[in-house]
Amino acid sequence: ATPTAVMVSTGVGASNGVLIKGGDALERAQKIKYVIFDKTGTLTQGKAKVTTAKLFTGMDRGEFLTFVASAEASSEHPLGKAIVEYARHFHFFDEQYSTKDAQDHGMDTKFPGWLLDVSDFSAVPGKGVKCFINGKQILVGNRKLMIESGVVIPTHAETFVVELEESAITGVLVAYDNILAGVLGVADPLKREAAVVIEGLTKMGVQPVMVTGDNWRTARAVAREVGIQDVRAEVMPAGKADVVHSFQKNGCVVAMVGDGINDSPALAAADVGMAIGAGTDIAVEAADFVLMRNNLEDVITAIDLSRKTFTRIR
Ligand code: ADP
Ligand code: MG
Repeated sequence: ATPTAVMVSTGVGASNGVLIKGGDALERAQKIKYVIFDKTGTLTQGKAKVTTAKLFTGMDRGEFLTFVASAEASSEHPLGKAIVEYARHFHFFDEQYSTKDAQDHGMDTKFPGWLLDVSDFSAVPGKGVKCFINGKQILVGNRKLMIESGVVIPTHAETFVVELEESAITGVLVAYDNILAGVLGVADPLKREAAVVIEGLTKMGVQPVMVTGDNWRTARAVAREVGIQDVRAEVMPAGKADVVHSFQKNGCVVAMVGDGINDSPALAAADVGMAIGAGTDIAVEAADFVLMRNNLEDVITAIDLSRKTFTRIR
């Protein structure tokens, strides 16, 4: 391809919201063999919502949700934000107050003034969050977090978590004072175009793969819905780049599509990194392509553009 052809294609990309950082990346994209998709926020909408909350001890539901939300208040994670939102909604809408009532009572429904003070907060990457409230420890996260902290997961709680996971929902476990107090189910719907894009890639001879920090059961259920066969789950944040490398054997050209901070090492490790959505600055920086419209169809647009630019006209 001539420099002019590259320039024209870069312009065509830009007018479709596909930003291409250089001719080399555009050239590599025609040979993509595998596209590795991050799950949360990439294949899914990144609009996680709590669908259910089940308590296992005698704790009051309102109190339970206040504890959980207080623990998650400083979390940057989409699961944490969904949980805070759910608790806020419970307190200010579902319960005794309407928003207006709450405001009449001098409660600020926007500012998290209803949350409790926490100490020793820490986010445990790939696992959850922990902190202390009134001298008691609160853990909010997955099984790994519970197990490494010595929290026993009773059979009925485990059964409930498995049920959630089998319907593509993430189970978030909550321990209060090292006793399993409850489980929340958090669902993040697939992007509308996801299944069609996966089918399209397969037809183009490109193999889709899903990578996630989420548990195997939820990951498999989501992969089944979207039509991806090859899944890598329970990958710690630092491990996504290793997954990319594992596909690069035998000179295969590997693309990674992701949106988050966790994804930037994998975006950089890939032959073609694609940041989707406005993304985090760090993901955008690590990527070769930026898919501004946050639409998965643009993965196909990018590969097509590359093929058209670099394949000689027959
Ligand atoms: P991904 O970005 O692929 O969703 P993460 O590594 O961010 O994966 O998280 C992996 C898992 O760790 C989540 O599915 C969840 O079970 C747990 N987790 C992480 N952060 C939190 C949090 N703030 N609250 C509850 N669970 C969390
Ligand atoms: Mg993500």
